[in-house]
Amino acid sequence: MTKSSRISLAEVARQTGSMLRRGDSAHFVDGQAPTLADLTESLFFSPGDGRIWLNDQRMLLWHSSAMGHLRRELIDTLGLDRARGLLTRAGYVSGARDAQLVRERWPERDAAAVFMAGTKLHALEGVVKVTPLAFEFDIDRGTYEGEFLWEHSSEDDEHIAAYGLGTEAACWSQVGYATGYVTSLFGQLVVFREVECRSMGASVCRVIGRHAAAWGDVSEDLRYLQARDFRRIAEGAPAPVPMANMPPAAAPGGDRHELVGASSAFNSACHQLARVAPTQATVLFTGESGVGKEAFAQRLHRISRRADGPFIAVNCAAVPETLIESELFGVERGAFTGASSSRPGRFERADGGTLFLDEIGTLSLVSQGKLLRALQEGEIERVGGTKTIKVEVRVVAATNVDLQQHVRDGRFREDLFYRLNVFPIHLPPLRERRDDIPLLMNHFLQRETSRHERRPTGFTARAVRAMLHYPFPGNIRELQNLIERGVISAEDGAAIDLAHMFRREQLSEAALLAIGAHGALQPRRGEPDEGLIDDLVRRVGPEGFSLHEIEQRLIRESVEAADGNLAAAARRLGLTRAQLAYRMEHKLAAPRRRRKSG
Ligand code: ZN
Repeated sequence: MTKSSRISLAEVARQTGSMLRRGDSAHFVDGQAPTLADLTESLFFSPGDGRIWLNDQRMLLWHSSAMGHLRRELIDTLGLDRARGLLTRAGYVSGARDAQLVRERWPERDAAAVFMAGTKLHALEGVVKVTPLAFEFDIDRGTYEGEFLWEHSSEDDEHIAAYGLGTEAACWSQVGYATGYVTSLFGQLVVFREVECRSMGASVCRVIGRHAAAWGDVSEDLRYLQARDFRRIAEGAPAPVPMANMPPAAAPGGDRHELVGASSAFNSACHQLARVAPTQATVLFTGESGVGKEAFAQRLHRISRRADGPFIAVNCAAVPETLIESELFGVERGAFTGASSSRPGRFERADGGTLFLDEIGTLSLVSQGKLLRALQEGEIERVGGTKTIKVEVRVVAATNVDLQQHVRDGRFREDLFYRLNVFPIHLPPLRERRDDIPLLMNHFLQRETSRHERRPTGFTARAVRAMLHYPFPGNIRELQNLIERGVISAEDGAAIDLAHMFRREQLSEAALLAIGAHGALQPRRGEPDEGLIDDLVRRVGPEGFSLHEIEQRLIRESVEAADGNLAAAARRLGLTRAQLAYRMEHKLAAPRRRRKSG
């Protein structure tokens, strides 16, 4: 069960029937997606937030000289060989990640275009300019052959600055990147070698990639790739999520409450959970609504020594105040009108297990007193009953309010607060663990696609951008709802877009920066309103407007709004002045022709 929930987006793409089988650079037409512009679209900056994203992967903008410094220290302390191995493998991870990005975002693209995207990404990331001379592959026959030129290699710049020219090629991490990218896409080991390098005095670097079997002896190459780790990364497995301290989910149905995350805030909460679970301590979860308090409480129970006992949850806010006592402690027959039979409360039902009390801040002072007694004495009394009943229950509570403030206001018993607050665990809101958003998107996409038997291919770039920037007032629960809505609304075989998930008013003008036409950072323009455009498109046709009428109306209004200033009117329309002037000159001829023919 846990295994199947780890399928990547790429797996979904594969299931929809697109798989790279063969390709040839000779058939590659420049301008095929993903173009450099398409890839650049995926790169955006969120400076206020301290993050840069390439689609859903966090990136770093780091000084090349700092990388050079690290490289020199690695060589000086570990020796050439081990330093080369480290950098090759780091490059491999980077290449494999980029391959994953391309496969997920452009699953239906021509195989050659997808292979070509790696050269463009490597250049976009500022590492090296890549010119493919030729490449050809056939997955079924297990052949790959490619030759590339590398110019402006950043690794050579740093290596030469530190050591001058030598006799060995030095673009180690770049070789690792190429190997990782192509191997991940190909599904079989393709080894790249740098046969000429600037660090050896060549004017440009030249690299050759070939299927491992075609090279003959690749033991030297594998030494730097550490072949034993290779298979796992090559299979495109997502980087291991550091949850080693978390035992696997064991209970059936555990999937529904699986904890997903890798951010430091998430890991710190998991770490505390693992520490306290085996003890008998009362645990108090704090945090906003929707952060997953019940999922954490369930996990706590599952990894505690009470795992075989019952897990009983009560949302105190959901039970009317007049009923909460009988709900918790049970009721004896005839205790009040309507109590026609005796029944046990949640405390008794949780005997030997865990009782989870959500929204504990809503309990009345009377109920708080009884709860305190149950916690202190380990016994309860049913409503209307006279005998005490022993219960052996671990209480786990949760609140989304500041209980300490409630104590100061006289709304919550101080003694109960201290009894509950033995081991508080704070669960951060999603906006403070944004690094987890891609993981959670992936997780819920898997779950909702199989639950609703839909096959969307993933998310559009702007949908990912919106998710990464959205404040998520409703936290994980809201993210889950958005994705469920997206999965249901999107067409099979198409990507989930903004309009499938969000209502217009949910999206603010994003304070994200992207790369503009001339390579400079500029604020991203608001996303066009798909709904309005759809509406407009429906109205164009024989009975409605013509394209020409819409165009002329737009031009006329823009020119009027700009007081006849053509340059300003052109800017409003996203045209150059010359393009606008051309369209204005042709405005008389077109409609007459249309009416005659129609
Ligand atoms: Zn080189």
